[in-house]
Amino acid sequence: MNNHPSKERTLVIIKPDGVQRSLIGEIIKRYEKMGLKMIAIKMVVPDASFVRKHYTVDPEWQKKAGEKAIASYQKKGIEPPLKNPIEAGNRVLETLIKYMTSGPVVALVWQGAHAVEVVRKVTGGTEPRTSDVGTIRGDFVLDSYIVSDTDGRAVRNLIHASGSTEEANKEIKLWFKENELVNYRLIAEQILYDVNLDGILE
Ligand code: ADP
Ligand code: MG
Repeated sequence: MNNHPSKERTLVIIKPDGVQRSLIGEIIKRYEKMGLKMIAIKMVVPDASFVRKHYTVDPEWQKKAGEKAIASYQKKGIEPPLKNPIEAGNRVLETLIKYMTSGPVVALVWQGAHAVEVVRKVTGGTEPRTSDVGTIRGDFVLDSYIVSDTDGRAVRNLIHASGSTEEANKEIKLWFKENELVNYRLIAEQILYDVNLDGILE
């Protein structure tokens, strides 16, 4: 049953700004309400080498992050400060290390149908300026690449959420030991996924 599609897992990190703004409960509530099951949680202060490892589990990450930033500038008709995606991505990584090591973060593993995709949907797009209204980033942060680049810092967006199932599997392994992932039954799962919905009526 462990490969059942209703058991997909994803990693969420409430970044230092989320903890400092007392949004831990609010953020957890959003994922919990949609029917996802929390199977691991811990608070840690990550160090620089750990953050670097986390963001480079995907060897293409720097390039993709750089391309995303450049495209966002171009879409607004503005010349991007760095035109080489890898260079731009490397700069983002350095600023991210500073951001992510500045204080405690809360790491969570969520399990449920299409966990990776739905967590990203509820979290919202990377740049809060364009994150949809109703998403966590759209509702609770106000920041943009232009503002963060002006000051040479990472864009503040409260949350990290795995971008794909491969990324999720690697990241979960990095943040949690196997015995920290709790296998348990949640009553709500029966209502969400049980074939017969039996056992309700007396
Ligand atoms: P996401 O967190 O949405 O998956 P990425 O993996 O592309 O986004 O980037 C990781 C994090 O790096 C972002 O959440 C954000 O905090 C920061 N970041 C990404 N791109 C930029 C950028 N161009 N300028 C500043 N910070 C950035
Ligand atoms: Mg990412």
